[in-house]
Amino acid sequence: MLSINPYYQDRLDRVEARLDAFYGIPEWHEFLPAVDELVCTILSQNTNDINRDKAFDNLKQTFSSWEAVRDVDPEELMQVIRVAGLANQKVPNIQAALRFISDEHGEIDLDWLKERSPQETMDWLTQMKGVGMKTASIVMVFSLDMPAFPVDTHVYRVSGRLGLRPEKMSIENAHKWFLTSNRPESFGPLHLNIISLGRDFCHARKPNCRECPVEDICEYPDKNFGN
Ligand code: SF4
Repeated sequence: MLSINPYYQDRLDRVEARLDAFYGIPEWHEFLPAVDELVCTILSQNTNDINRDKAFDNLKQTFSSWEAVRDVDPEELMQVIRVAGLANQKVPNIQAALRFISDEHGEIDLDWLKERSPQETMDWLTQMKGVGMKTASIVMVFSLDMPAFPVDTHVYRVSGRLGLRPEKMSIENAHKWFLTSNRPESFGPLHLNIISLGRDFCHARKPNCRECPVEDICEYPDKNFGN
């Protein structure tokens, strides 16, 4: 079983404390019911927060229920969410997820998962087409109040460079790894602060190590101190 040992836990604690001091304790964009968060997270794939929010607002203003979104002509739904991009992939995934929830549960609601264990919830959510561990973790930690640590591309890249996990660990195992940290209440804020670090300093191609707030903790061998 994957498990964070004291060496990695200490590094995680130091990074968390430094990022909390630098960025503050961040808040999620807004609390949404779990089905709303699931759809919103599917919309967020490969787009920015502004276009995700525009698409989600369009969706909520156009349709009176998730049943209506599930049953509408896909072409019509594509027009409504077009601003989020990749509508030809996102529409089938959204409608398949809504169909799966209603077929399996009888109604389009996910709050009943609060009664299940985190592992059962993860297993159930990831049966849906287009719902991987990252999307399921976001729904769990931000809507179902369950321990989960979403690992998106920023978190995966930055955590590897910072030495918060074994370097060659897969993204799937990284989800399991961070779950064994001893401070589950900090999963949501730490996830958000690592994303901010990735966006602001630890860019994929040319990290700005000179101004990075965790440079002295970071173990990345190819740091960039140029402009
Ligand atoms: S020091 Fe550089 S590589 Fe390390 S986390 Fe900061 S920006 Fe990324």
